[in-house]
Amino acid sequence: MSSEAPDPLQHIGAALFRPLGVDGVYARTALYEDLVERLTAFISRQRDRSAEILRFPPLMSREQLEKSGYLKSFPNLLGCVCALHGTEAEIRAAAERYEEGGDWTRALAPADLVLSPAACYPVYPLIAPRGAVPSAGLLFDVAADCFRREPSRSLDRLQSFRMREFVRIGPPEEILAFRQHWMERAQRLAAQLALPCRLDAASDPFFGRVGQVMAVSQLQQSLKFELLIPYYAGAKPTACMSFNYHRDQFGVIWGLKDEAGATAHTGCVAFGMDRLAIALFCVHGLEPARWPGSVRAALAL
Ligand code: ATP
Ligand code: ZN
Ligand code: MG
Repeated sequence: MSSEAPDPLQHIGAALFRPLGVDGVYARTALYEDLVERLTAFISRQRDRSAEILRFPPLMSREQLEKSGYLKSFPNLLGCVCALHGTEAEIRAAAERYEEGGDWTRALAPADLVLSPAACYPVYPLIAPRGAVPSAGLLFDVAADCFRREPSRSLDRLQSFRMREFVRIGPPEEILAFRQHWMERAQRLAAQLALPCRLDAASDPFFGRVGQVMAVSQLQQSLKFELLIPYYAGAKPTACMSFNYHRDQFGVIWGLKDEAGATAHTGCVAFGMDRLAIALFCVHGLEPARWPGSVRAALAL
């Protein structure tokens, strides 16, 4: 962490992370990573037995993300993989420009990959070729290392962070019931972890002025809720989970239909693994051995 960060959480960051030279990108200490593992297991214990488990790499198909509409909403956050393409001579010439103090990056060209900005995007195209969505719908447990280009010195805004999601695909009423169930359940889980929290309607940080209109519409339609946790008394609370209803957006894009031909709706519940882990350290301190018994029991500490 930067030594000049005017942040009441600075000593927490120093115990959990090691700097890697870029804001919002950190090496994680054993103390931190052990807790993330326990939190991961805690969430796995909440998983419905019918869920199909998929773990994604930190990368996904650029074409799939483009088709998902990401560039309309968050072009500013996207990280795209670039590489040196071309002949041996071209690649060698570009690399040598660096050695000569020049700019080798001019020769970079976009590859067919982007850094995944959320864990659920790859699910919809992955299941589309499977055929009709069963009438009871589908449920997935997914996770990925995610990237968003939002450099910050705040501990709760990383460029590289872990996201776990339960994703539901099916008729609209099933999606809404799933989301409602998880909004209630999440508050009980936070209570088990002795984390103070509040649930609130939210909007995504859509890009630019058009984005502001999209955000208002999202709020009006109650498409997104967040579980907000203050990291310390008086802190502006941090969104540690989100509960999202996409309506038929991904169903239309990927042609997800039930047997009768009705377009499937989708929704997801996202756990911000790093934000939840940091919340636990901020609220309960840096010594898990001294955390409340109920929290230790929930996390098998
Ligand atoms: P915020 O409003 O704080 O930017 P978001 O609305 O962009 O959050 P979602 O897109 O709903 O967040 O992502 C799901 C979850 O992933 C969030 O609830 C949060 O816990 C986590 N998350 C999102 N962005 C970051 C980040 N930059 N660093 C760490 N965790 C993040
Ligand atoms: Zn999602
Ligand atoms: Mg955001």
